[in-house]
Amino acid sequence: MPAIRKLLRHAKIETAGGKRKCHRKQDEHKILKGDACLVIRDADGRAKNYCVECALPILDQARDDLNALAAELGLNEPGSVAPSAGSHHVRGSTAAGREP
Ligand SMILES: [Zn+2]
Repeated sequence: MPAIRKLLRHAKIETAGGKRKCHRKQDEHKILKGDACLVIRDADGRAKNYCVECALPILDQARDDLNALAAELGLNEPGSVAPSAGSHHVRGSTAAGREP
């Protein structure tokens, strides 16, 4: 038994043992045998497969959500995670990075 509670129990990466459909684009995206795919199990126990292309934004969203949770607890030091937030000053280019 892990001492720390696992939050993402319903998400895992599997290697497809056979052809699977990507849930997001069922007609266009195919997950072939041997491909890695993201499997998300719903509350009702049904699993949905996502190809790598579709998994990335899902993982990005999850990362944002986790960051937001951590931020609410005050765990995110400004600058420790966000890139180029004040280590050096570049005039005129406030590019890079998203608004918090
Ligand atoms: Zn897909």
